Amino acid sequence: MQRVVLTVTKNEALTPLIYEMTLVGDVSGITRAGQFVEIALDGLYLRRPISVCNYDEGVLTIVYKVVGKGTDLMSQMAEGTQLDVLTGLGNGFDTEHDCKKPLLVGGGVGVPPLYRLTRDLVARGKEVTVVLGFNTESEIFYSEKFEALGAKVILATADGSQGVKGFVTDAIHESGVEADYFYSCGPLPMLKALCNSLDIAGEVSLEERMGCGFGICMGCSIHTTNGAKRVCKDGPVFKKEEVIW
Ligand SMILES: Cc1cc2nc3c(=O)[nH]c(=O)nc-3n(C[C@H](O)[C@H](O)[C@H](O)COP(=O)(O)OP(=O)(O)OC[C@H]3O[C@@H](n4cnc5c(N)ncnc54)[C@H](O)[C@@H]3O)c2cc1C
Repeated sequence: MQRVVLTVTKNEALTPLIYEMTLVGDVSGITRAGQFVEIALDGLYLRRPISVCNYDEGVLTIVYKVVGKGTDLMSQMAEGTQLDVLTGLGNGFDTEHDCKKPLLVGGGVGVPPLYRLTRDLVARGKEVTVVLGFNTESEIFYSEKFEALGAKVILATADGSQGVKGFVTDAIHESGVEADYFYSCGPLPMLKALCNSLDIAGEVSLEERMGCGFGICMGCSIHTTNGAKRVCKDGPVFKKEEVIW
């Protein structure tokens, strides 16, 4: 973990509630897709955890949804704003897992961490299929970006306004995707349905309310098949068989 000051260079709405923010500074603490950062915000006691969407030398991209006070404050930040950020938090996805055709499944704000994961898996020569689930067409973001990375993209919307009508599990079933491992991030009911319906091994990124973000306060502890684990430090990514639903 590193504590750094990062400067906002871009903060744009992708949809009415989803924003993409680019920050520059020392992001060398970030080493893996699926890690997250914690951002200190004026007037708020707890930092807010946000997944790493993409990173390169000196540049971090995050994508966030405005749901409350902290993310609303973030959405109003102008270029040049300096933020106190903890970087390199969490374990991240296992990109070295031996597979040829990984399936990546994201729902809503679970989509961003899959972007860097796709980039890394494509770079390793994997045949990546990405299934993205949203409520409706106007909430869709990043699907072209995943395509530009070289992934096959399948969309699902709950109201059928774009792609397959229904959940990501419906889209996977209908499209007959062939995969030998899966990675996923999204709402808990989606992750549970996915783990129950896929007979291949995989890993899921869990979201919990967290206090410190680096394993000290134990506020985000969960029970797993390997005993109590902290989502912030031992996770947020867990193997399918570790999660007790
Ligand atoms: C490891 C991790 C990675 C995350 N990555 C992203 C991301 O990439 N993009 C993104 O948009 N969001 C992400 N989140 C969720 C994000 O942290 C919360 O939406 C944010 O902290 C809300 O802050 P707020 O002050 O705007 O809302 P608050 O005013 O604190 O809360 C507003 C509402 O959001 C709910 N809420 C707040 N935090 C969480 C949480 N952690 N889990 C479930 N519900 C919550 C509250 O129950 C409340 O109903 C992530 C969370 C975790 C734990």
